[in-house]
Amino acid sequence: MRRPRIVDFSRFILKYIFNWRFWIAEITKKSKIYKKIIDFTLFKDDEIVVIPNTININKKIESEGSEFLPTDVIKEVIKRSNDIVLMNTCLCRTSNDCKDYPQDIGCIFLGPTARKIPKHIGKLATVEEALAQVDRADEAGLSHIIGRNRIDAVWMNVHPGKGLLTICHCCPCCCLWKVYPNLDSDISDKLEKLDGVSVKLHEENCKKCKKCLESCMFEAISFKDNKISIDNDNCKGCGLCVNSCKFDAIEIDYTSQTIDNVVNRIDDLIEIKEL
Ligand code: SF4
Ligand code: SF4
Ligand code: SF4
Repeated sequence: MRRPRIVDFSRFILKYIFNWRFWIAEITKKSKIYKKIIDFTLFKDDEIVVIPNTININKKIESEGSEFLPTDVIKEVIKRSNDIVLMNTCLCRTSNDCKDYPQDIGCIFLGPTARKIPKHIGKLATVEEALAQVDRADEAGLSHIIGRNRIDAVWMNVHPGKGLLTICHCCPCCCLWKVYPNLDSDISDKLEKLDGVSVKLHEENCKKCKKCLESCMFEAISFKDNKISIDNDNCKGCGLCVNSCKFDAIEIDYTSQTIDNVVNRIDDLIEIKEL
């Protein structure tokens, strides 16, 4: 008797709430009480890290003699997981009928709570299948977000939320996390740039085509006084602007310190297995 209620709730949220997400997020800046309710309901205990798309930094890592890529962080977490569910399709991209990025690459859910996800949303998968999806997402130019997102436990109506870890493959046009600039900073700050990731603009190469403006879902790039600038406070280091610039005017890099930090963060995320 419980399964039909779960199915109906997730479909209701997708059908009615998804389209209102920017409006729902924007009010958190205007009302403290509303912000507290939304924070508690959808973002409590969230801990989310942006992992850059690696297409444009592979060469950099090789030249430094390192064998470590940012996506290896995600792969390591997947390899340590007993419970893996692949979303059947990317709900954000199918909802928007995305023409630029694959609609069949959706979220990966890890942790014991993932086993409770209704089959019309996602199905159990092997480590190999999940690793192949990460590679496909990277090749398609998607960036990645990994962490505990309470909102996923809420919309899928699966519990406990601490037993669920989400890996999202983000596009700049349709991804749910485009709402972050619309949220009050008390909430949006829960989504972190990887320590040590840096994004640099080479003004001398910039042709002012403004392509990069469309690619930044965190609204960190602006065009003022006839020049492009990147706001490092808002930049989450996703790397999507690097992919969009055809003139090598934007560079993303990370230090070996980043790698250590990420490995430490994996240990925290892996605690979900003990629930
Ligand atoms: S959160 Fe990311 S991977 Fe998941 S459905 Fe939305 S865009 Fe697709
Ligand atoms: S995409 Fe590259 S060349 Fe075009 S405006 Fe942005 S930085 Fe400049
Ligand atoms: S400027 Fe925007 S698109 Fe570029 S890395 Fe930062 S957050 Fe991503």
